[in-house]
Amino acid sequence: MRTSSARSRDNAFAALELDRASERRDDATWLAERAQAPTARYLILGADGRALITAERRSLQEFSSADCARLLPGAMPSFLGSASGSDYFLVCADDASTVRLAAESSAAALDLRSAAASLPAFHAGLFAYARGLAHWQQRMRYCTACAAPLALEAGGHRAKCTNPQCGIEHFPRTDPAIIVIVGDGDRCLLGRGPQWPERRYSTLAGFVEPGETLEDAVRREVFEEAGVRVGECDYHSSQPWPFPASIMLGFTARAEDPTIRLGAELAEARWFSVDELVDGLKARTLGLSSPLSVSYRLIEHWLRQTAGLELSTLIQDG
Ligand SMILES: [Zn+2]
Repeated sequence: MRTSSARSRDNAFAALELDRASERRDDATWLAERAQAPTARYLILGADGRALITAERRSLQEFSSADCARLLPGAMPSFLGSASGSDYFLVCADDASTVRLAAESSAAALDLRSAAASLPAFHAGLFAYARGLAHWQQRMRYCTACAAPLALEAGGHRAKCTNPQCGIEHFPRTDPAIIVIVGDGDRCLLGRGPQWPERRYSTLAGFVEPGETLEDAVRREVFEEAGVRVGECDYHSSQPWPFPASIMLGFTARAEDPTIRLGAELAEARWFSVDELVDGLKARTLGLSSPLSVSYRLIEHWLRQTAGLELSTLIQDG
């Protein structure tokens, strides 16, 4: 039996073998030293979340501290962490500078979704992490309690209110969202959003509300979207999902009452038998979410458990 840790590692953006060294973030002298050292590697992200990727799209474009000082003078680096003897820093640039730097360094400026499929797991995870942190920094300019400007500290991981009467500290936020494959014997429940192409389906998902357990959120979302009553549910795996600030928490669940009563959020919700999934995928009349998503991993898990079938093989055969 594979553990949830192993299942999470299979998810895109979730295989980041990085020491975040969070206990060193308040050591400004140490951080300044690391930022200047020859082992420092700088990643550059535009305000729109695009990163500089090498021309062949096989890795993030890494810059030395000297390159970074020359290309983006005065830019304030954020510390991401250390791996394989290198210290990784993030620098945010405006969109015009990102385009200019891409041209000057023969790199491509790509968003995370486009880049993720061709990047190695470490770089995909690093990009996701950097994108999430950069998005928070860009949005957290003013104190939510008193509206005074904020100042970044702790290597870019904390924003302190500059009003001495307030002085509140703000931290990066991550919004938990559950995503679930509901089974009923040899059928599973999938839905289609109103903007999606015809015959493309995904597992159901939604944000966790205040005062709610993850299991209650699973039951509420499935009932709200499809009218199906869920009984037991179990944690499957998690995935950072910085679009812009979520973590996806994957679950498997069993239906208690499979009757579908469509809610307002989806265009369609229906049960698929194993045979319907297999036939639809092989005939290419059925589309699923990208392999980057937990939805894909949940359907893969369900097919394996229920029918001993491999989703990737079915898609290749299609
Ligand atoms: Zn304040």
